[in-house]
Amino acid sequence: MTVNINIKEIKISPKKNDNDNNKIYVRATSGLYQKLRRYTGWVLILLFMALPMLRWNNHQAVLFDLDKQQYHIFNLTLFPQDLTLLAWVFIIAAFSLFFFTTYLGRVWCGYTCPQTIWSFIFIWFEEHIEGSANQRKCLDKAPWSKNKFSKKIAKHSAWIIISLLTGLTFCSYFVLFPNIYIDFFTFNSSPTLTGCILFFASITYMNAGWMRSIVCTHMCPYARFQSAMFDENTYIVAYDEKRGEQRGPRRRKSNPSDLGLGDCIACELCVQVCPAGIDIREGLQYECINCGACIDACDTTMLKMNYPKGLISYTSETRLAGGESQILRPKIISYGVLLIAMLSIFSLNLFTLSTIELEIVRDRNTLYRENNEGLIENTYTLKILNKTIETQSYKISFSGLKDAYLIGPKEIVVQAGEIFTQPITIVVDAYAIKAKKVMITIRLNSKTEEIKQDSPFFISL
Ligand code: SF4
Ligand code: SF4
Repeated sequence: MTVNINIKEIKISPKKNDNDNNKIYVRATSGLYQKLRRYTGWVLILLFMALPMLRWNNHQAVLFDLDKQQYHIFNLTLFPQDLTLLAWVFIIAAFSLFFFTTYLGRVWCGYTCPQTIWSFIFIWFEEHIEGSANQRKCLDKAPWSKNKFSKKIAKHSAWIIISLLTGLTFCSYFVLFPNIYIDFFTFNSSPTLTGCILFFASITYMNAGWMRSIVCTHMCPYARFQSAMFDENTYIVAYDEKRGEQRGPRRRKSNPSDLGLGDCIACELCVQVCPAGIDIREGLQYECINCGACIDACDTTMLKMNYPKGLISYTSETRLAGGESQILRPKIISYGVLLIAMLSIFSLNLFTLSTIELEIVRDRNTLYRENNEGLIENTYTLKILNKTIETQSYKISFSGLKDAYLIGPKEIVVQAGEIFTQPITIVVDAYAIKAKKVMITIRLNSKTEEIKQDSPFFISL
């Protein structure tokens, strides 16, 4: 019997868990991978909720202040000029996804994707309010009654509260915490902010409550291009067809080989627990989010039957064919090297990020001027941006022009995040200078940093 997986032709299979409403009633299961997903889910949710609540040096630890165009991330304050860093973050995220998907398959989808985490939270409420998958199916089929009405109200209220909290938390990355909560619940939020909170809340409610696997299957582009990253050594959730077939029910004590059966007892648990509503026994399908629920369900059955675990497992095409999965392979090495290179460039950019931004603007109409004493003057407008979160004082100096002096303040004070405009004039006796133009260097010194920029000094045209 051949192994029913072809990485290059990941299937789109008909849903097995469907019903008249085309709704998937996910059955609860427990096991190692469910625990793992619950723990990673909790850690990520707590991080998501807690980050905007944290204070750091008297300001919100993580705040993307769109009004002031300042983005605070702990000690780091970024301005629109620094947004190339954001591009690097996206590039690194993309390469991490390529690297981990080639190695471990869709672990992102199964354990860390917000769509999966929120869907499982919503399913948890559904299960605790409306009952098991079968009870929920019966409840949906039953005519409207007081009991059905109260259960539906309770479930949707819980979903709405979670969605609102999600919307509020998401927006508190952009608006000060806890003001955002106070204003929202006292109806003092601006219409724009209220609209944003409600928009993100309704997206959460729709995606995690109603759409669930539809988002993964029809809206998320990742499911479509994953096969390009998979190879025969990629870890996937797969059914061991050699061991499982011929599937069929049997008594617990009977010997399957006597009955001409494999280890699959056709209990259908793996299908009932699948949030994507697929049957993994039909081979790898692009709807599979690698959540491992079918592994836990099948392992429970195997234990009950006294069979070895792992009929469905995290494995690879190579391992299923009897070989050993190779970890170090050209695709993984290339993605790994590129990822390290991107991370190095990003770290270098981050650690050499300046806390001062200096722009020198010259008056293009009057490049130079001769004053009453016959000295040559050039005027420059300095635009200084203080990119720290504290008021800073900067010393202004210049070099490159002998016996010249500066008219204007030698030291200025700039508030945090302020763009300060300071005109300065440099004056020189040009008698001994033969050139028409000399390059000078204007310097700005804070207590910790120096920033300099070259600019021409015109003597004549
Ligand atoms: S087939 Fe298994 S791993 Fe894939 S989505 Fe369904 S339950 Fe999760
Ligand atoms: S859970 Fe395991 S034993 Fe039951 S149908 Fe699925 S593969 Fe077969």
